[in-house]
Amino acid sequence: MDDSIQDLYQRLSLTKKESEEIVVVPEQLQDSIIGGDKCLIMKLFTDKHYNKDVFKSTMRKALRLTMGVRFRDLSSTLMFVEFDDRRDKEKVIQEGPWSFDKHLVLLKDVDGRKQVKQIQLTSASFWVRLHDLPLMARNEYVGRLLGEKIGVFEKVDVDEGAIAWGEFQRVCVNLQISKPLLRGSMFSIGGGEPVWVRFSYERLPNFCYLCGCLGHGEKECTAVTSTSKFSGMDALPYGMCLRVGGYNARFFGGTNQAK
Ligand SMILES: [Zn+2]
Repeated sequence: MDDSIQDLYQRLSLTKKESEEIVVVPEQLQDSIIGGDKCLIMKLFTDKHYNKDVFKSTMRKALRLTMGVRFRDLSSTLMFVEFDDRRDKEKVIQEGPWSFDKHLVLLKDVDGRKQVKQIQLTSASFWVRLHDLPLMARNEYVGRLLGEKIGVFEKVDVDEGAIAWGEFQRVCVNLQISKPLLRGSMFSIGGGEPVWVRFSYERLPNFCYLCGCLGHGEKECTAVTSTSKFSGMDALPYGMCLRVGGYNARFFGGTNQAK
């Protein structure tokens, strides 16, 4: 038995009648609507108050969809987004990550079997640039290896010759938003002289320069109790160099459509 159900039994001392389970027939449920391939759960990753109506109208314009979309509130933080066309949903996922007022917009596929309180949005996908890789190490194998260190590897951006030319290699990675961003990694070929490979993140929203986590700034940071030991922004452990803006793949020899 599920732990939470066990807790419920103990706390409420359910009567026999209350314990009798209602079993429903899936065919009678709204499966074709909820959990279909045209829907997403959306949440703005911030504890700060924001105007939901402004958020919805801004997102509606920013997403530039071909067909219609409807936003419905599921709770004070979660929204159910229903697209008229499945391709619009795919476009929204492909062109992410999105942000509103510098806060990250979290997206998740709908699982219609879940209660609203069970829905958790804990990750987001980003294109990460790997800077200063040795020339011979700019391939899919290394991209995957570093991508798996950063988060859950999704794909790598290399040319047809399987080499990433230009200033950096790009990997798409699904990040756990509760964990600090990695600024880079030590790297060596065959245990030789190690070098520092620096990471930067495309379309990175607000993050904390003290702890490196998304979703809050230095003033709201609970990981570090005092900023007095930092003499200024230059002395903070994390900084602007983690963030890079848009990217036109054609100029860098890339092959994907990320912006
Ligand atoms: Zn912080």
